[in-house]
Amino acid sequence: MTSGVTADSQRVFRFAPSPNGYLHLGHAYSALLNFDLARQCGGRLLLRIEDIDTGRARAEFEAAIYEDLAWLGLDWERPVRRQSEHFGDYVRALERLDEMGLVYACDCKRSDIARLAAGTPGWLRDPDGSPLYPGTCRDKPRRAAREVLTQRGVALRLDMHKAAALAGQGLSWREFDAGDVVAAPAEWGDVVLARKDTPASYHIAVVVDDALQGVTDVVRGKDLLEATSLHRLLQRLLDLPAPDYRHHGLVLDENGEKLAKSVASTALRALRAEGWTPADVRERIGL
Ligand code: GLU
Repeated sequence: MTSGVTADSQRVFRFAPSPNGYLHLGHAYSALLNFDLARQCGGRLLLRIEDIDTGRARAEFEAAIYEDLAWLGLDWERPVRRQSEHFGDYVRALERLDEMGLVYACDCKRSDIARLAAGTPGWLRDPDGSPLYPGTCRDKPRRAAREVLTQRGVALRLDMHKAAALAGQGLSWREFDAGDVVAAPAEWGDVVLARKDTPASYHIAVVVDDALQGVTDVVRGKDLLEATSLHRLLQRLLDLPAPDYRHHGLVLDENGEKLAKSVASTALRALRAEGWTPADVRERIGL
């Protein structure tokens, strides 16, 4: 497997929140773990603002991210990369996949796919639970990605079958405490790589940015474990190095449920207002 990491290189970690809500204890765990790991090995810590969802991202939440992380005692490199300022980088990667014949335009509605799936017993779902795309637009006349990306209302999908064939065998990643994990990108089907409302998607942006920023260690929640299969596929297709990965357990609420940004009670600023200290946060999350 290609690895961007050499024994003597300085390691680069990143914390990459989306500014569409206030940070909660789960984010604190990720941020502090990245910070601690970077410090332990003399590595660098980057902060990346993942705000490609321009409809949901808000300046107020971004400002709160800086404030909450500083309160926790974190320090990170400046300038901070804001994804909304780099759509050109994601478009270039998508155009490269297009030149390889691996993406196609799709104007299907999510509701249509959901209806089709609901009416068909045994319809396969991706690891996030969404019904797999049936490929309705796959064989329509080709349209250049460049043109599709300037249009709203049309998405770009990866032709998974072709992409997996081109990537070949032996796709895996190095996972902390688990060794090599075999990637299974086909479970995602023909994923959306550029959304109808924005010329990128989380998957393409994260892969491009981790490479551009020289990230050697991706430390993030277990909820993104399966997405790593897809990220490894895109890295191989785009000739990008493979970071090492560490998917940590999620902080759960008192009912054993995953914390959500919408639940105000676990927001770091709410806890701070109640008198919690950064040490209390570390104790609660076991760091
Ligand atoms: N922006 C993502 C989130 O807030 C994290 C992405 C990642 O760490 O790869 O959930």
